[in-house]
Amino acid sequence: MIWTSDPDFEVCAMDEQTKKELRSWLEFYHELGIEGFYRREPTVAESLPSLAAARPAPAPAAHPTQPATAPKPVPSSLPPRVAYAPAPPKPAAPLPAVIRPPAPSFNLFEAPPAPRSGPETLEQIRQDLGDCRRCKLAPTRKTIVFGEGNPHAELVFIGEGPGADEDEQGLPFVGRAGKLLNRMMQTVGLNREDVYICNVVKCRPPGNRTPEKDEVDACSPFLYRQIEAIKPRLICCLGAPAVRTVLGIKEGITKIRGQFYDFGSTKALATVHPAYVLRNPREEKILREDFEKIRDFLKKP
Ligand code: URA
Repeated sequence: MIWTSDPDFEVCAMDEQTKKELRSWLEFYHELGIEGFYRREPTVAESLPSLAAARPAPAPAAHPTQPATAPKPVPSSLPPRVAYAPAPPKPAAPLPAVIRPPAPSFNLFEAPPAPRSGPETLEQIRQDLGDCRRCKLAPTRKTIVFGEGNPHAELVFIGEGPGADEDEQGLPFVGRAGKLLNRMMQTVGLNREDVYICNVVKCRPPGNRTPEKDEVDACSPFLYRQIEAIKPRLICCLGAPAVRTVLGIKEGITKIRGQFYDFGSTKALATVHPAYVLRNPREEKILREDFEKIRDFLKKP
């Protein structure tokens, strides 16, 4: 009995002696429990009659489970040209590809980004602002009014935007409103050199009109960066545009003034703009009242 499904198995092409030897081998393997034979293509050496004939006969090892009582004669040689053998073990699964570290996201031939050594400075922000053309105020301004004062101030004043005097001099609150601001600071014992003063927009709106949304949107990122660089304890929003930009409060200034709000970890106080007091001199007392609140806040540790 032959256990093979190989259609090319050329039993009939063998001589009787070879068939007999083959049968004997197959029975021997069958008793060892080895089944499922496949046909191996002869190697070049095996297909050469002289070498195949000289090949030594394999000596199958005795199986421990082989019954001792009925030993079968072990055939002495394999057929010369057609070799049969138990199916070889399956080849091992291919080794996984080497896992490489992810490629660096920067070009190796370029310098890697310099590590940031801390928060931005006001000088860096001013440099980034450059000769700003980000909004439609640029063509009509004379000077960019970035801000002025102590870069480590505890108190930052934020106005609306430069007027004519500020546009000329490049400094915030140097006109009539600025003079009133200076006086208010004096009344509560604050020095202008100790605080930082800036505006929602850094270029003068034509005719001193209120800055428009697109102008505020283009400019306010620089204001936020200035606040972040200074890290004051208190921000004083002078007038509705500053309150709207910094605190997002749209209510009328006379309703919400004199109150403290949160701006991140910083406090913010809303008050009226000095220009409003210049137009309504009787309202000076409310500005003074709010400046006293500023003084009291800064006195606390
Ligand atoms: N008004 C402002 O809001 N800012 C200034 O710098 C001057 C006047």
